[in-house]
Parts: sequence; structure tokens; C-alpha cells
Amino acid sequence: MAQRPDPAPVDSFAVANGWNRDYEAYSDFDLPTYVGPTTFMNLPWVTDPTVLRARRADVAIIGAPFDDAVSHRSGARFGPRAIREAQYTSGSINSLQLGVEPFEVLDVVDAGDANVVPAWTERAHAMIYRKVREVAETGAIPIVLGGDHSITWPAATAIAEVRRPGSIGIVHFDAHADTANDDWGVLAGHGTPMRRLIESGAVKGSNFVQVGLRGYWPPVDVFEWMRAHGLRYHLMREIEDRGAEAVVADAIAEALDGPDYVYLSIDIDVIDPGLAPGTGTPEPGGMLTREVLRAIRQIVAAVELCGMDIVEVAPPYDHAETTAMAANRAALEAISALAVKKRAGTTIRWEPPVA
Ligand code: MN
Ligand code: MN
Repeated sequence: MAQRPDPAPVDSFAVANGWNRDYEAYSDFDLPTYVGPTTFMNLPWVTDPTVLRARRADVAIIGAPFDDAVSHRSGARFGPRAIREAQYTSGSINSLQLGVEPFEVLDVVDAGDANVVPAWTERAHAMIYRKVREVAETGAIPIVLGGDHSITWPAATAIAEVRRPGSIGIVHFDAHADTANDDWGVLAGHGTPMRRLIESGAVKGSNFVQVGLRGYWPPVDVFEWMRAHGLRYHLMREIEDRGAEAVVADAIAEALDGPDYVYLSIDIDVIDPGLAPGTGTPEPGGMLTREVLRAIRQIVAAVELCGMDIVEVAPPYDHAETTAMAANRAALEAISALAVKKRAGTTIRWEPPVA
């Protein structure tokens, strides 16, 4: 979309070199994605919750650039920026799979990053909690870009707090269960957030559904804890046997068995590392990118989505940016599926109770 003609200079060098003709100038939203500010899809950067509330934003992207809780390779702190940049189209995009132009239907903004500094886990988690909570309170659906998976603890807690503790189910895609009691004595590691969510009462174990587990972690005693707390989980082996769509249909029913809303947590390492190598704890034998994107469309169409995170994208190992692109599309698939619902008359925003 052309905004305004750029005023032509009249100085003699411009005239002599032919630089004095009129050119169209474009808005930041319509410029190529590598030009201008780095926001998700070139969308407006709106960090003030009062503005979010006033414009009645449907969806708000939040960055959680924190990776001090990893157990192996670090680098996910650079994930939010890489996911924001991993896009080659700009302006009013068109979802071919869903037949919708999401930004024509939804008001989507980039609400900026949580106020994170390095090497201070407690502070980072507190700031991520506050950021997600202040955005969720406006009624916009937060899509949080990690960061390591420990950020799901504060992010999902914030949304449970805003909606109602125990009212959200979680569908968690991951090669790993992330339900350890501790990582070498640390309770807030990226191997523990799901146990913290359940122990604290923010989410019930019986409404916690995991998809894509494989490999060699967690150990037997952690699975015993999971079974004792009612978690449901679907191993990669089950996806191989029954297909992703049937397994995801079961996961949706299990997550909604009681709760009103679903929070979706996508650890990008659920995708096979041959397709998405940019992650800290790669586990061979994972899902196809297309299966995960389809699963996101399937879930968002079927549930009332209250929030989402996409974590463990570690750009230093992402040699062809395929991991960041998969994460970017994971967000776009959810946004497009929400747009289809809004176009059909469903309310996407959450209406906070009047104070
Ligand atoms: Mn994880
Ligand atoms: Mn994982």
C-alpha cells in the first residue's frame, strides 16, 4: 500500500543524477520485513497495556528472551528476535491453507519483550509473569516467543491467574516431558516447568496433555510422578502408529475434560531436528513441521485458546533459519485459525470482568 509520495529533492545533484523523481513511500507494515523496526510481521509495537485495551487487540505477541535455565546448549534468548525476523512477506498476508487474510480480520500487535536481564532467573520469571499478565488482562490473547521452556511456568501461570486457576488445560508439544522435580537441584530449570504449574495449582495434572515425547528423558521415577498426577501423554510412537491427527483429536478432548480454555505450548524440539535443528536439546525422530502446523490449526479451531508459547528456538544452531521459520509459522497458523473463527462470528478476545 503506497502511503505518500516521497517529496522529490530539487537540488542540483539530485537533478543531475536523476534522483529527483517522485517515488512511492511505504508504511513500516508494508515494507519488506528486513527494513525498519524488528516487530513480528512488521506489526505495530504496542507495549502500553492501556493502549492495547483501548484498541481492543485480539492477539499480542510477547518476547521472553531468556535462556539461563537450560540444561544443555544455550542460545534461546535470541529466539524472539529470530522468530520475528523469519518471514519474507509483509503487509496483509494471505493464509492459503485456511483461506483467510488474518490481519484483515484480527487486530494483532507486537507487545514487545518482558523486561529480562541475563543471569537472574527469579527476576526474569517475575518479569515474564508480569508482562504476560498485564497483556492478558487487556483481553488480548498472548502468544509468547521464548526463550527456554522454563518461561512456560510464569507465562501459563499469568494466564491461569487472569482467567481462573484450574480453568485452563494445556496441550504441550515436546520431545521431553519437562516434569522433573529439579535440574541438579534447581527448581526453575527448563526441565521442570510443567511440574511447577501442576504443584502450584495453576493447572490440574489431569488437564495436562503432552504430545511427541521420545528419546531417553525423563527417567522412570518422573513418569511415575506424571501418572500419579493424572497427566496424559502421547509418545511419538503413538503418532507413528495412529497418525498425528487422531492423536491430536484425543489430546484436545483430554485437555478440555473439565477446563474452559486451552493454553498451547510448543517446544520446537518436537519437530525432527533434521527439519528444525536450531534448538538446545535436539532429539532425533520427531514430528514433521507440516504435522505440527496442522495440529495447531486443528487445536485452535476446536478450543477456546487463552494463550500460547513457542519456545526453545536457539538461533546459533539454526544454520538455515528453518527452526525460526517453523516457529514463526506456528504463531501464524494459530493467528490464522483464530481469524477464521472471528470471521465466523466467534469472539476471540477475552472480555475481562468490569472492575
Ligand atoms: Mn520443553
Ligand atoms: Mn524439549
